[in-house]
Amino acid sequence: MDGIQITAAKKLSTVTKKEDFSSIESTKVIITKAMLIREDFNAYLGNEKIQYPIIPARIGIGKISAVSDEENQTLVRGMRVFPHPERACGKCFECFQGEKQHCAAFNIAGKNTDGFLRDFVVVDNNEISLLPPSVTDFQALFIEHVALCVNVVDLLKLKKGEHVVIVGGDLLGIFLAQLVIYYQGVPIIVDNNENNLKLAQSAGVYYTLFADNRVEKSVSDLTGARLSKKVVYMTGSNLNTDIALKLAGQHATLCFAGFGTPNLKVNFNVALIKQLNFNCVTNGYGNIDSAINLLANNAVDTSVFTVPSVKQAQAMEAIKETASNLTFDATSGMLIVEVI
Ligand SMILES: [Zn+2]
Repeated sequence: MDGIQITAAKKLSTVTKKEDFSSIESTKVIITKAMLIREDFNAYLGNEKIQYPIIPARIGIGKISAVSDEENQTLVRGMRVFPHPERACGKCFECFQGEKQHCAAFNIAGKNTDGFLRDFVVVDNNEISLLPPSVTDFQALFIEHVALCVNVVDLLKLKKGEHVVIVGGDLLGIFLAQLVIYYQGVPIIVDNNENNLKLAQSAGVYYTLFADNRVEKSVSDLTGARLSKKVVYMTGSNLNTDIALKLAGQHATLCFAGFGTPNLKVNFNVALIKQLNFNCVTNGYGNIDSAINLLANNAVDTSVFTVPSVKQAQAMEAIKETASNLTFDATSGMLIVEVI
């Protein structure tokens, strides 16, 4: 296997490794496209607790090139697949209890296990999902994002007509808003970035509010003074968590959602007064196949987003450049690499 790895903060090198393809239930996948997300750039910049060296790219898509079990009828050479970005460890108490979705030690691509910026990967057969022809490569790169949003919607127990305040209009926040609409809820996106609010509007989100001192009054007017019973704070945004707490009604559910695990400060005085329920979602584990179906049905629209794309030969240069130009625009800190 040939790839690109991060060897230390801001240091990249090529790498060649041997991959074990002896297990009876494994599949070899040629990676066609890899996508780096903000967490990959944080790993590159040395902002995350990372054990180097590590191959970045949390997301990858590819084609099956070999299946160890030749009799296998469902996995066939040439099929387009999405290798899962998280694998449950299979060893912790939760995994042992059969609750892999609550695994205490997920193997996360690009974070604590190698990501997809390489020519091929060997994965267990149950750690890949087939891509239907109706899902384009570009859509497929967002399966994990949509799956994370499905996990959030599941957690919120969203009811028809219910408001969901989404604090942070990054790419995940906009996907989440689209899903809330799909499930007949009413999203309200709050951000301090005009570009993100415009993008949210072009993605079909009707209520977008600038995060200034009038935002509480606006949400109060929209929700009949009760404020919102469902609030999601996007951890990838740079907004103060006070905004999310301020917009939450009494006994509201407040979900912290995003791929990263930043060291957020939360004002528990407000949380205690309002007796809020806190939840956290950091991955799409368990809802990959739902996300593929939602993308196939165009429940979320990926076409509003533009992500730069480079060939493998330009990848190192592009990673350095992207890392030095990070902003809080919705698709900042994302890069697609055409591996082959
Ligand atoms: Zn586990």
